[in-house]
Amino acid sequence: MKIVTRSPEETLEAGRALAQTLTGGEVLLLEGDLGAGKTVFAKGVGLGLGVRELMTSPTFTLLNVYEGRLKLYHFDLYRLSSPEEAEEAGFYECADDPAGVTVAEWPERLGGRLPEKALRVRIRKKGEEREIDYGPADH
Ligand code: ADP
Ligand code: MG
Repeated sequence: MKIVTRSPEETLEAGRALAQTLTGGEVLLLEGDLGAGKTVFAKGVGLGLGVRELMTSPTFTLLNVYEGRLKLYHFDLYRLSSPEEAEEAGFYECADDPAGVTVAEWPERLGGRLPEKALRVRIRKKGEEREIDYGPADH
């Protein structure tokens, strides 16, 4: 499925809408260049899960955890220097939590070791617009 958003608010709304379908145990892999809108989308997911805390980018912390209807594990893997670091940071444990939702920016850093049944959300900049493409992650 593919949609186009024309503002950060619309991308936020796309994340919120997706979150409403989640029941726990899902992994969302957010692909896209710097400034594509991955963090905006992740904030929308938080909104849809009822997270009340202000969400910030986990660029430097690697992982931020929030409480909502489901637990939200928000990873930014950009700064990983090796795929093993994701393991050490508990990425695969979070991904396995049936009561949690894992959202990962820069899943390319996992070196191809993707959790089972991950959903890929690819965001492409097209001028002022963003094209958001949903699909199964390639294993
Ligand atoms: P990323 O996490 O992918 O690096 P961010 O979500 O941090 O990107 O930033 C996206 C930037 O693009 C924000 O400054 C946001 O205001 C801007 N922007 C402009 N149009 C859109 C859109 N349609 N969807 C999402 N972000 C947009
Ligand atoms: Mg980001």
